[in-house]
Amino acid sequence: MSSDTSKRPSNWHPETIAVHAAVEPSQYGENSEALYLTSGYEQPSAEVAAARFAGDEAGYTYARLGNPTVASFEQRLAAMEGAEAAIATSTGMSAILLLCMSLLRSGDHVICSHSMFGSTIKLIGSEFAKFGVTTTFVSQTDAAAWRAAVTPQTKLLFAETPTNPLTDVCDIAALAQIAKDAGAVLAVDNCFASPILQKPIALGADIVVHSGTKSLDGQGRVMAGALCASQALVDDAFSPLIRSAGMTLSPFNAWVVLKGLETLGIRMRAQSANALALAEWLSMQPAVNRVFYPGLQSHSQHALAMRQQSNMGGGVLSFELKATSPEAGRAQAFALLNHLELAKICTNLGDTKTLASHPASTSHGRLTEPQRAQAGISQALVRVSVGLEHTDDLKADFAQALRAVAG
Ligand SMILES: *Cc1c(COP(=O)(O)O)cnc(C)c1O
Repeated sequence: MSSDTSKRPSNWHPETIAVHAAVEPSQYGENSEALYLTSGYEQPSAEVAAARFAGDEAGYTYARLGNPTVASFEQRLAAMEGAEAAIATSTGMSAILLLCMSLLRSGDHVICSHSMFGSTIKLIGSEFAKFGVTTTFVSQTDAAAWRAAVTPQTKLLFAETPTNPLTDVCDIAALAQIAKDAGAVLAVDNCFASPILQKPIALGADIVVHSGTKSLDGQGRVMAGALCASQALVDDAFSPLIRSAGMTLSPFNAWVVLKGLETLGIRMRAQSANALALAEWLSMQPAVNRVFYPGLQSHSQHALAMRQQSNMGGGVLSFELKATSPEAGRAQAFALLNHLELAKICTNLGDTKTLASHPASTSHGRLTEPQRAQAGISQALVRVSVGLEHTDDLKADFAQALRAVAG
């Protein structure tokens, strides 16, 4: 092996990491990572099998416990996030389940924002409540509220920034300091920004959460998830639990997402530019009450977002239609979605295709009305995950749909 440090991922830029890190050819010397589809691994001897199962010797044993294609994905994503290690999971939600099951026990306390992804609010706030974990939901943007919520039992601060769907931004470095002072860990869901825009670990976060289903795959093909963290957290907290609980990523899905990572940089830049163009155009439409997008100067944390997200707003925006009542707002939002021709009604995001959804009845439909009100998600709100289409085509599509709603 060469000792040339220019060949080490730690010295590479993210674009280089994305296409070169963690490609380990087999004896065939393939130029792209191989897809190893196998459930088990033949062991050279009973002694070696025993040593591998005991953890005394490196080597693959059974696919729930490890797979070379999945390991490539973990190593490449960790390098892109600037983390020591990563562990891959079957979905983004199973990454959050793994995180919480590993780190929390009965009596522990969690702080998170009340404007997070709906399933995350349900999982932490309701499912974990069954096991005696309490959660305080605070304002996403008010760091003082996060600090005031700390109790001696606080073990975890869980932040998502920008949030789904309103793109609220929180100050990762400020939350990291609060977590540190509380002796708790800070986990950041980096699904919307991706490591191309924002690297939470460099800002002091302990754990980065990913839904690989979104931008990392980026072409709407598979589900995947991951946690990026220190080697110690991965080895001592996450690995033992996933080994018993089995929310493992399939090698095929890992292989698809590895391919997605290669183009993440150019996709995130192009989608940020397209989203900004669409957000600016939507802001000028008379039927639109308000546009939520970190790249707009009108966004309440625009300066923080630009500083924290490499001057990019990301690929997702939301906008609220002008409506006289919640019922009218819902009817108008539904009519708009039904009239879109190019943009598809779909709750996925980070895809190359532009996808639109009505958060109040889909991704955030299981929240109670007060929870939705607190999160600021009205019936007139439409979320758009902006793809790679030409912005003139997107504007034309939204223009004709807005006309249909008005008419
Ligand atoms: C979609 C999403 C998740 C969950 O990921 P899945 O892969 O769908 O399980 C978590 N966080 C955010 C912000 C998301 O948008």
